[in-house]
Amino acid sequence: MGRGRSGGEGTGRPRSVGELDELLRSLDGRGYKAYEALSGAWRFDDFELHFDHVQGDPYAAPTRIRVHLPADVAGFSGGPVRTPERARGTECFLAHAFAARAAQTSRSRGTGRSGEIRMMHPGQLVLATTALRLDDDGGVEARFTGGLPAKGRRIAGRHARELLLEDVPATVGASLRASEHDPAEVERHAAAAEDAEALRAGLAEEGLVAFVADGARLPRRSGIDDRPLEGDDVVPFRSPTSLRRTVRLPNVGEITGMGIPEGVTLIVGGGFHGKSTLLRALQDGVWNHRPGDGRELVATRADAVKVRAEDGRAVAGVDISGFIDGLPFNRDTTAFESPNASGSTSQAAAIVEALESGARTLLVDEDTSATNFMIRDRRMQLLVPSEGEPITPFVDRARELHEAFGVSTILVVGGSGDYLDMADLVIRMVEYRPVDATEAAHAVASAHPTGRRSEAARPFPKVPERRPLRSSIDPSRGRRSRSVKVPDDRTLLLGRDSIDLVAVEQLVLRGQIRTVGEALAWIATEFPSEAETVAAYLDAVEDAVAREGLDALSPYRVGDLAEVRRHEIAAALNRLRSLRVG
Ligand code: ADP
Ligand code: MG
Repeated sequence: MGRGRSGGEGTGRPRSVGELDELLRSLDGRGYKAYEALSGAWRFDDFELHFDHVQGDPYAAPTRIRVHLPADVAGFSGGPVRTPERARGTECFLAHAFAARAAQTSRSRGTGRSGEIRMMHPGQLVLATTALRLDDDGGVEARFTGGLPAKGRRIAGRHARELLLEDVPATVGASLRASEHDPAEVERHAAAAEDAEALRAGLAEEGLVAFVADGARLPRRSGIDDRPLEGDDVVPFRSPTSLRRTVRLPNVGEITGMGIPEGVTLIVGGGFHGKSTLLRALQDGVWNHRPGDGRELVATRADAVKVRAEDGRAVAGVDISGFIDGLPFNRDTTAFESPNASGSTSQAAAIVEALESGARTLLVDEDTSATNFMIRDRRMQLLVPSEGEPITPFVDRARELHEAFGVSTILVVGGSGDYLDMADLVIRMVEYRPVDATEAAHAVASAHPTGRRSEAARPFPKVPERRPLRSSIDPSRGRRSRSVKVPDDRTLLLGRDSIDLVAVEQLVLRGQIRTVGEALAWIATEFPSEAETVAAYLDAVEDAVAREGLDALSPYRVGDLAEVRRHEIAAALNRLRSLRVG
């Protein structure tokens, strides 16, 4: 695999910090490009520093810097790194500490981004990133960016010396050494990550798809702010006794909470009673959260995918015939193609695509669903007989998906009682508190039959294996063979294609979108054969990351990649408008 790293390597022995000082003095006042002389490794008192990429212009993307602290300096041995999960927790704690310290220390030191020090941190999540890694032995590698100081377009030597000889060592020293932190605080992060992972790993054995601990705080500050809603009005989660489970975790010990078993689960309740908030916590429960988040002990199986309607999206050769067939003009729905899918066809495609990437738990909210995809009631069946209606609504498939394919569904429905008949479990939200309403729901269902007939004329088809053409994924742009950009929190630019990820709700971090982009570029440039199954592409990406970490996906050493699942990569691939299947 041609993995040429840019800069930094093969340039011989690290130079001393004294040499760096001299070099910066000599660069003062010269053209900005002369900063290129920094490339390579430098030996500081406590750590080694590498310039992995030196910016060519004060307004360009800032310089990529990497430091490595050996274990005896960093001092994270034992508890903080004892298991990979603990190491993740410690890493995310350190990334926050570094980012916060950098924000305090760094100051404007000239034109553009001169003087700025920045590290990506994973927000409320706890997951692997390329920003900060603990070695097995307790050493630390940190990657961040620095804006090399300029006056106009000339090198500002004194400011550069302040940035690199004072600000950077101060930030590194104050944030990446165990001695600078309260050991209890570090332990709290390591332990929380380990517990969350253990909770999720234990779900399948318990026959559960999700677990929400008593005391969890689910609501967020706003639709664009993932931090916990604070205040006395927040109602902590409390499980109904019939659904209460006790789980033992390695650090906190025994906890109780609501277990959601495999099968079809409805979340019902009046408007504004917390249905969508619960579902959101469940969809985010595929990730681990940092202590204090409120969702530390909410876990959903790693195979859970949120699906929703997304009219206008492109669909490439997806078999949606289990939900939709007999379209006008006999359009084929076993390999449905559209540059502009409707609400119902997009939701059908999202479900089939999720199954194709290996999802076995589907999360659906009425708020983001197409009504005609979800239900068709008795009266509508009488007015428009099924010969004139291509849609087999989800209500006629959810049970079957569970029984025939082992796929569980958790569904928010406030508006349609037609779902009551087929639910294994009905959770009713009453003023943010869940109540087990299963018996009541079944009583209503038998006292008030809907009279509707199932519209499923045939069994739901097994998901066929599509073979996307590798050549239809093109990350090149102009002279660059590979261009991956993330202009905002919901968009991926891959080569000249723009992929809209608004509907891929489980992508939480910008760094995750970047990883998805690198994964698609990797498939396009590194995969050996032209047309493989989606599963084969995803397996190959997963294998590469398992072997070499997220760095496997990028030709450069970057500090802004964050872990994703195969489902997120598949979701982006499926939304690529140029995608063609063989
Ligand atoms: P629904 O989907 O049932 O209409 P939502 O889940 O959208 O309701 O919640 C309605 C509002 O209540 C949201 O603003 C949400 O932040 C808030 N909310 C949700 N859960 C809680 C809770 N446990 N405590 C306090 N406020 C909450
Ligand atoms: Mg809602």
